[in-house]
Amino acid sequence: PAIVETRGLTKVYGDGTEALKPLDLDIEEGEILALLGPNGAGKTTLISMLCGLVSPSSGQARVGGHDIITRYRDARALIGLVPQEIALEPFQKVWDAVRFTRGLFGQGRDDAHLEDVLRKLSLWDKRRSKVNELSGGMKRRVLIAKALSHNPRVLFLDEPTAGVDVDLRRDMWNMVADLRRDGVTIILTTHYIEEAEAIADRVGVINHGELLLLEDKQALMTRL
Ligand code: ADP
Ligand code: ADP
Repeated sequence: PAIVETRGLTKVYGDGTEALKPLDLDIEEGEILALLGPNGAGKTTLISMLCGLVSPSSGQARVGGHDIITRYRDARALIGLVPQEIALEPFQKVWDAVRFTRGLFGQGRDDAHLEDVLRKLSLWDKRRSKVNELSGGMKRRVLIAKALSHNPRVLFLDEPTAGVDVDLRRDMWNMVADLRRDGVTIILTTHYIEEAEAIADRVGVINHGELLLLEDKQALMTRL
């Protein structure tokens, strides 16, 4: 069954912007879906609604069978989100930032898992540093570590490689490969077709709030 489902999901912002037109989408467990589209297409709006951060204007979204609004806590526990914007507590230490997210969404402490996540992201040596002492790239790594802190079954990556250095890009793809092996469902947004092609199983093309095309990568590539 689908781990992420939307039915008639829409978003009209207060100023009248129609950011998402009615969307019916099923994302299978273990799938990697790339949402491709230009700036302003509605990608972030869609991801934000699937994570319960933006309320839909109509329709429903479910994650793991839980409605993202009425069963937010159950749904959110399954979700890891790496947002586009760096939003971190500046004076929090890296270790505490990651443990805080685990505390919010995870089941009990698992310091061994947090250590593993920090090591994989080359953050272990920085675990006692305050977040505002880190470079932009390291802050981005902290966002990823927080998203993975509670073993999510669905990981959302919003423009994961926009403005990131080569090292982080490589670590990111290695991480995606590991997560894929563990059966984690991954939904990422990008405006690079090469990126969608490189890692996704399916590619959805969004423009002006509308999902124009949703195809297996192979089918899409033969058409382009
Ligand atoms: P993308 O992630 O594809 O760049 P967004 O989801 O950020 O697209 O934006 C989709 C549309 O909604 C754009 O026209 C954008 O300007 C508008 N938009 C996004 N957030 C808001 C908001 N909080 N209020 C009003 N309009 C918004
Ligand atoms: P609690 O009071 O919940 O038992 P801990 O003893 O786990 O908290 O942590 C106390 C402080 O020690 C935390 O604020 C954190 O900065 C630091 N800390 C705990 N575990 C680690 C660790 N494995 N690596 C680095 N710092 C840690």
